[in-house]
Amino acid sequence: MLTRRNLFKSAATIGLSTLAPWLDRPAFSAVEEARQGCEPVGDDSRSELQSPLLELEYLENLKDDLDCAEVVARFGPPLKAPCWAGTDLIWKASHCPFCAEAGLYVGPEFFRCKWCEAEGSAIEFYARAEGIPHVEAAAHLNGLLNDGSLRGRRCENAHAWGMLEEAQRFYHELLCEKPDGAIARQCLVEQGITLSTVKRFRLGYAPVEPDDLLSRRLVAAGYVIPKLLQTQCVSDEGEQKSIDRFGGGNLLIPICDSAGRSWGFMKQKIVSPDSSLLAGWTQDTLSVSPRRLRRLIFPHPAWPQDINRHQRLLVAETPWEVVALHNAGIENVVCLFECATDPVRLRTLLSFGRDFACAFDAKGGRPATAFRFVERLEGEMRQLFVMEVPSRGGLLALLQSGGRQAVQDAMTQAIPFHQWMGE
Ligand SMILES: [Zn+2]
Repeated sequence: MLTRRNLFKSAATIGLSTLAPWLDRPAFSAVEEARQGCEPVGDDSRSELQSPLLELEYLENLKDDLDCAEVVARFGPPLKAPCWAGTDLIWKASHCPFCAEAGLYVGPEFFRCKWCEAEGSAIEFYARAEGIPHVEAAAHLNGLLNDGSLRGRRCENAHAWGMLEEAQRFYHELLCEKPDGAIARQCLVEQGITLSTVKRFRLGYAPVEPDDLLSRRLVAAGYVIPKLLQTQCVSDEGEQKSIDRFGGGNLLIPICDSAGRSWGFMKQKIVSPDSSLLAGWTQDTLSVSPRRLRRLIFPHPAWPQDINRHQRLLVAETPWEVVALHNAGIENVVCLFECATDPVRLRTLLSFGRDFACAFDAKGGRPATAFRFVERLEGEMRQLFVMEVPSRGGLLALLQSGGRQAVQDAMTQAIPFHQWMGE
């Protein structure tokens, strides 16, 4: 149970001053380096914020598109046969090109020497091996990917995004049109969710039916064996079979970016038309393009037009609160998935709104996102506000009892975090 009293204690234990930087330092230095000698950015705060954010995202995307093992094999020492380290496939190099000792480990994401502590991504390796600045190395590698000299991971990632997009269409049609989707449609009607909201979020439904309907659809669409979207189960007869990994009677909310690329779903089991959708959502994503996935919030903004879009942004506790509030016409609300303290995810949040409101109930019966990231926000010149909501049902109870106006009033009347904490 979370109360103000024990929150004080946990804040003191964590130490509010131990702030992690929200920017990826090597990449940020590279951006700064690139900017040296350029015309200074104008005094418009929007463009000041926009430029480093977009440049950082460009570098992160490039790291996700490159295969570090391919870059090391091409521009560094020969690699030996790969082996598994946990769930990662890694290679050992014959020697480290920077200290000449044998102890260089390489994976698709990284290289690391156990002797000279050289480490980083494909871009850092190439910059160091060629003796050129980071930004120049990034531009070279991007060119090699574009002209096909490097294979990278673009095809692999595009394949997974394509399959997930097809899966999204499949589940969305199932929810909107098919007899199997009736239970989910009734459930949404009970919640007052309109068809335009269902379409806006591309909500879907994966039926209880254990047969792998999704795989059949994907095979029909030209995908070979969609193992990424399957999971194994053992039947009553003891036979192992592949089934739809998102299936089992789940309402699904796709996790995607503003370009429509999809990583998976948030899912919640529906057992009857009056099932509660308040809590119990779980995230099921593929480990595709981890840097792009890590910075997503829900719903994801589009850059640059959404930079600093909202004066006050409400940080909801669950994806369902976001859907229900958008359904009621409140659009300045987002959810941080299950990673409210990830600095990369917070970077997206901080670029989307100017200040933030979190809901809290007096009995502390709900999880409280505000306290999980307050120490990060402490380092920003931003304000965190707290709005109190009913203990039973939280934000959605407030919406049901007083409608859109009640939620908007509570957001406007939210008080600064420190004042609320009694400081
Ligand atoms: Zn070394």
